Amino acid sequence: MNDFKKYFPFYENTVDLVYFDTSATSLKVNQVISAELDYMIKNGTNPHAIDYKKGYEGLQIIEETRELLKQYISASRKEEIVFTSGTTHSINLLAKGLEKIFNESDEILVTELEHSANLLPWIAIANKTKAKVHKLTLNDDFTIDIDSLKKLVNENTKLVTFASVSNTVGSKNNIKLITKVIKKINPNTLVHVDAAQSIGHMRIDVKDLNIDFMSWSAHKMYGPFGVGCLYGKYELLDSLEPLFYGGGMSLKIEQNLVDYTLTSLPEKLEAGTPNISGIVGYKAAIEFVNKIGIDTIEKHELELKKYFIDKIQEKNLNHLIEFYNLHNNAPIVLFNVKGVNPQDITNYLDEKFNIMVRGGANCARRIEGVINTKIAIRASFGINNNKAEIDKFVEALTTVDNFLD
Ligand code: PLP
Repeated sequence: MNDFKKYFPFYENTVDLVYFDTSATSLKVNQVISAELDYMIKNGTNPHAIDYKKGYEGLQIIEETRELLKQYISASRKEEIVFTSGTTHSINLLAKGLEKIFNESDEILVTELEHSANLLPWIAIANKTKAKVHKLTLNDDFTIDIDSLKKLVNENTKLVTFASVSNTVGSKNNIKLITKVIKKINPNTLVHVDAAQSIGHMRIDVKDLNIDFMSWSAHKMYGPFGVGCLYGKYELLDSLEPLFYGGGMSLKIEQNLVDYTLTSLPEKLEAGTPNISGIVGYKAAIEFVNKIGIDTIEKHELELKKYFIDKIQEKNLNHLIEFYNLHNNAPIVLFNVKGVNPQDITNYLDEKFNIMVRGGANCARRIEGVINTKIAIRASFGINNNKAEIDKFVEALTTVDNFLD
């Protein structure tokens, strides 16, 4: 076991299992599981029920978590962070919240690499409002091409939305430069970053990047399922139409049943009972990441990635395997065994070697517009992985030619 494996109960009874699917979800650490369970066992009350101590305790944890997140992403105020159920919910909240600003002369810029969660909500809103969705041009390494970005942004560009790191080809965008270029041409263009693949892997400073909105999921940074966040600059976030209406955000409903007054941020966008036990678990996850250090996590993962590349080159597997964007700067590799359906390979790796990787479109349905295939195999690394697992993986890959016979 490496030093980090000890934090993950997943490995307690399954020394043999190799988990290379951190991009889908990171494994859960002990303190996250016990914090979530503990809340349900020892508290279990509704954090909106602040009339008694136990309810208030839940509310306090929510606000402590928000404060930790504010520090984690360097937001100006904790009220700029709204809890959701995950990236998908956050982006839908943003898209619906912005619907009223779009009309037929407006343009939304996206990349074809986006996860469906950062593509479908915008296509749906554009179809409804008659706004146009345009594709951004990508460089050979699948990052956003700055020269064509300069040509595409104009006075009608309402929004540019892109992933910080692609969940398939692992391309890592220069967010600061992209935002600077956009804002120089049109200071009113909104910039949204899908940080699902970067929140648990690298330092993000929303003030320094000058982005307007950012979405992410807790389960991609060692936290629980069912919790996520939408960050927004205060005035912009405040201007969003809520996606959900209900308890916790309503201050007053008039007798005429027409008029109402909502609370201020962040509760205004958090109608209903929150996933309190999930948020308790998320607090433990942020503390875990802070304890290890996000820079240590990034360094460890990129070292594993480099080790993988070196091993692959040593084995000279190029005649057998096609890698897409092997030299990206993220702990993600995408490849195909030439002439073989990726799902046959993922099944083989799982059945024969207990190696868990993904095969398919990985929810990036327009990837075929970017690379020469609709489907591929993705391996992604986390702090829980080590070099011995990479050795096992590379050894397994050297046997795929036998598999073909
Ligand atoms: N965006 C990207 C880049 C992702 O990788 C994912 C999940 O894989 C999502 C959005 C959606 O995240 P969730 O399913 O947690 O809402």
